Amino acid sequence: MVAAPTTLQEALELLSKQPCTIVAGATDQYVRLRNREGVKPNLGEHVLYLSAIAELASCKQIGDTLEIGATATLTDLLKHPELPEVLRQAIRQIGGPGIRNIATLAGNIANASPAADGVCALVALRASVELRSLSSKRTMSVSDFILGVRKTALCADELIVKILVPIETWTFGRFVKVGGRKADAISKVSLSVLARTDQGIVSDLRIAFGASSPRIASDRSFEEGLVGTPLEALDEQRILSHYASLLSPIDDQRSDKQYRLDVAMNLLRTAIRDIREDTHA
Ligand SMILES: Cc1cc2nc3c(=O)[nH]c(=O)nc-3n(C[C@H](O)[C@H](O)[C@H](O)COP(=O)(O)OP(=O)(O)OC[C@H]3O[C@@H](n4cnc5c(N)ncnc54)[C@H](O)[C@@H]3O)c2cc1C
Repeated sequence: MVAAPTTLQEALELLSKQPCTIVAGATDQYVRLRNREGVKPNLGEHVLYLSAIAELASCKQIGDTLEIGATATLTDLLKHPELPEVLRQAIRQIGGPGIRNIATLAGNIANASPAADGVCALVALRASVELRSLSSKRTMSVSDFILGVRKTALCADELIVKILVPIETWTFGRFVKVGGRKADAISKVSLSVLARTDQGIVSDLRIAFGASSPRIASDRSFEEGLVGTPLEALDEQRILSHYASLLSPIDDQRSDKQYRLDVAMNLLRTAIRDIREDTHA
């Protein structure tokens, strides 16, 4: 049975009665649960289709937070003027227009793929998810929500209802991915970098790698240790060595681990040099 509730309350009531296969745009679910050719995907007995819930489709600024509803499509998000640039660059590189017209950011997060481009940007932005069940509401960072490959902290009776993205001013923001081709390709490696500098001094720096370890790789305490460093004194070699030791890329059908590591370090080296150059421009 496929249920397509039009309100969040209805969806949470259904979910409280039995576990369901949750579907939004279905762009990951249809691939994950695909069947042999000519046979419908095996979505299970109870399917909960979320994309008819209009109250979750908005994307709005509330104070200094951008609240992204769980059924807002990636195409809709690209229309929002306050969407942080690093997230805009990541979303623009997810699939092609047909995928972005139906796929959601909540689906990108809950799918818990190490190669999820939206998640790479959201981790750098220190975004959170709001989770709701019929009887509870909790918020946790996207980074804590994803426990490993295809593993999340979501309980069977919960839904992601919102993604909360801090709106901040950055002097440098970049999402870059390397795939098998320029568009419509899953990342072999991805990198999000955000920097804020004030008179040549780093006041914030964020680095997050995708497709290079089981979860998006970032290190908040290392980032915080760089705050207050003059740009000229940023020790490129120390930063590269630190992140090289943090990553654990794998060999798979898309790439091999040495290539992934080499490319990841090249992307980071270029970003550090560009942060310096942009500031001096
Ligand atoms: C051709 C193609 C190209 C692609 N290219 C890329 C790419 O370049 N980069 C990339 O990152 N991804 C890519 N993807 C993967 C996919 O499109 C994205 O991850 C997309 O954001 C998933 O969103 P969705 O709404 O379709 O999720 P769905 O497939 O509906 O769901 C994905 C997962 O999230 C869960 N879920 C969805 N919504 C909720 C919710 N509100 N609460 C709790 N759980 C929820 C589902 O149960 C499921 O486990 C591609 C997929 C295809 C088919």
